[in-house]
Amino acid sequence: MEINLLDKFQGCLLGVAIGDTLGHPFEGKLRSQIHTYFDDFDEFVQKNKSLFRTYTDDTQLTLHTAEALIKGNGFKIEYFLDEYINWLDDPPIGPGYGCISSIRKLKLGVPWKEAASNSGGNGTTMRIAPVGLYYCKDPKALKTTAIKSSIITHSHPAASAGAVVIASAIVFLIDKNPETGFSIDEFFEVITNSIANTQDEIWEEFIKILNKLKSKLNIPIESGLIKFSQAGVKSPYFIEDYLGQAFVHPYTISTVVCAIFIFLKRLTSFKECIFELATAGGDSDTVGAIGGSLAGAYFGIQNISPDLKKLVKNDKKILKISEDLYISFKEKY
Ligand SMILES: [Mg+2]
Repeated sequence: MEINLLDKFQGCLLGVAIGDTLGHPFEGKLRSQIHTYFDDFDEFVQKNKSLFRTYTDDTQLTLHTAEALIKGNGFKIEYFLDEYINWLDDPPIGPGYGCISSIRKLKLGVPWKEAASNSGGNGTTMRIAPVGLYYCKDPKALKTTAIKSSIITHSHPAASAGAVVIASAIVFLIDKNPETGFSIDEFFEVITNSIANTQDEIWEEFIKILNKLKSKLNIPIESGLIKFSQAGVKSPYFIEDYLGQAFVHPYTISTVVCAIFIFLKRLTSFKECIFELATAGGDSDTVGAIGGSLAGAYFGIQNISPDLKKLVKNDKKILKISEDLYISFKEKY
């Protein structure tokens, strides 16, 4: 089967929106609690559509990132800053502190180096999918752009590492045929290499945690989430109350590791994968969005069922932006 990249671009960005939309009602809840609401999640979604009326900041910022790349024919900082400032007029839905605080400063005219928050939160990884798509044939620009697009709002090294890892994972998956699968070893090699050979302690710690994840892929989802929900989180940000629970912390490393874990545990279909991601517990919408970008890039839009496509607000607009991004990519590469 020849890979249709437009199909993958659309699958990836719609995947973000579907995961975000499905996870939104479960943000801040324990996985064990979420899973008492239903036996059959598919049925639950169909019967409770009003719960899934909207996506959140994850999708909003992903779409602004795509617009910035389209307008700039690639990364140009002024378009990124403009688009993120424009997001304040959307207005933001459920924003994280790191994003909103830095972007408000940008709007006031504070230079980005001063405006960037020292947050290690997942706010830059959740918007990175368009960068992975646009630079899928340009590995060098992929990494530098992932970092640049991250540091303009988050100066913490975990934030940029997460952006590089997820952008690299998207590049790997966009090329793969879901009918034949892919090598898990190769997948881990690509994502760990993407952040290897730096002197940064946090990036090195991230690699260790990814290696640990790889060695634990045989454990059940609940146990894995208990294990990795607060991976890499340091005092005073550690949440004692959720120790030993599946409740994904909004720190970049824990969110990325949990999203990758669930994605790899549910390679059976887009639907099974996204349902499990969006009900992860804790920062469920962002696990849904980040994991959704991986699932969408892998399965493509042709493997996303019509009911899920239709569930998402502005589905046609998202598909159009994905197509415009694809056209811009084709013009350049
Ligand atoms: Mg959100």
